[in-house]
Amino acid sequence: MDQKQSRLDRARTQYALYKERPLDISMARGIPSKKQLKLSESLVNDIEIESWLSEDELDIRNYGGLYGIKEARELFGLLLKTKIEETFVGGNSSLQLMFAVLNYHMYNKQNPWSKAKDQPVKFICPSPGYDRHWFMLDYLGIEMIPVELTGNGPDMEVVEKLVSQDPSIKGMFVVPKYNNPTGESVSDEVVDRLASMHTAVQDFLILWDNAYIVHHLTDEKVEIKNILAASKDSGNPDRVIQFVSTSKMTLPGAGVSAMGSSTKNIDAMAEYFSKQLISFDKINQKRHVKFLKDKQSIEAHMEKHREILEPKFSWIDAILSAYFGGESQSFVEWTSPKGGYFVHLTTRVNCASKIVAAMADIGITLTPANAAYPYGSNPLDNSIRLAPSNLSLDQLEIAMEALCVCIEMVTLETYEN
Ligand code: PLP
Repeated sequence: MDQKQSRLDRARTQYALYKERPLDISMARGIPSKKQLKLSESLVNDIEIESWLSEDELDIRNYGGLYGIKEARELFGLLLKTKIEETFVGGNSSLQLMFAVLNYHMYNKQNPWSKAKDQPVKFICPSPGYDRHWFMLDYLGIEMIPVELTGNGPDMEVVEKLVSQDPSIKGMFVVPKYNNPTGESVSDEVVDRLASMHTAVQDFLILWDNAYIVHHLTDEKVEIKNILAASKDSGNPDRVIQFVSTSKMTLPGAGVSAMGSSTKNIDAMAEYFSKQLISFDKINQKRHVKFLKDKQSIEAHMEKHREILEPKFSWIDAILSAYFGGESQSFVEWTSPKGGYFVHLTTRVNCASKIVAAMADIGITLTPANAAYPYGSNPLDNSIRLAPSNLSLDQLEIAMEALCVCIEMVTLETYEN
């Protein structure tokens, strides 16, 4: 029996054992663990609000203050490098703000992206990217054009060519730091090119989703060049809207989100929101300001998250290296992110869906294969996202060993000769 056959037999035997005793583990979504949530319990249990007045004299218990309270706008302004009038503080979800921006541009009366019913609206989608971005574009009927990521952000040659020629391309998503799922960050050169590129439409829009702005996993704390400043310098002051939230700093279900952009964009979005609500939750904004305080204390708080998260990423790297270092290198490639929440696997062509299905059959749920591509469509079928944050180290070890068995079995079966 050749070596390959005996490896396959061994993997099948191991897999059969997993099948006899299925597990119940999910590595599908980037959810903070209970230990991480504990870090912010005092936000609810201990923060006392001595004055119900915000710094700009709003009674935070009452209606009003749609742009957010002054102290919250200042705090998020520190993260986004925006002035108070360039900063809008919303509710508990930055995705909601992004959807609102898209919805506003699709349907506002004055200048909608789509002037006629059958006129297509298209977006550039750096891939692999965040599936929920793709879901919202698809829901709104916006056609998605995937552009490959390079390790330093989207392939700018391709982006520049597309946006300079096609006026139906209205914008793009970028996750600039520790991208979900590849972990990569955009280089200064990419920031400059995005800020200054020629676009066929005058009001081309970049949704700059900085979800992992302070979510470092190593001592090398990646800093991204200021895209708002670069866009202003290039004569495109309204090109970019930045988004952040405290979802993965404090409590995802009860956090605070914000956006930073030109005052023109911020005012337009405030006007849009004024048609659907009178104000967001200002008490929660105040609580967050008291809890997170300033940049330094945010960094100290994020260090505690890192202490919990980092060992999980090290484990993934160690187990994959043990299985697929050396001779088996060609079975799978994986990222070693410096921040964020995900590891991305590039399997052999036509293997990702089978690996995810094999894992599901033994009770381990992963994000659907290729979900990081628009429409979930990746002709190479080689993309898997791992989200380890919500697993204990013990669970992670079990799940990763099973994953390695599945990768080995599926790859050997697919490439039998
Ligand atoms: N943006 C990215 C890139 C994410 O990965 C996530 C969560 O995984 C979000 C946004 C969700 O943000 P929020 O909780 O503020 O809606």
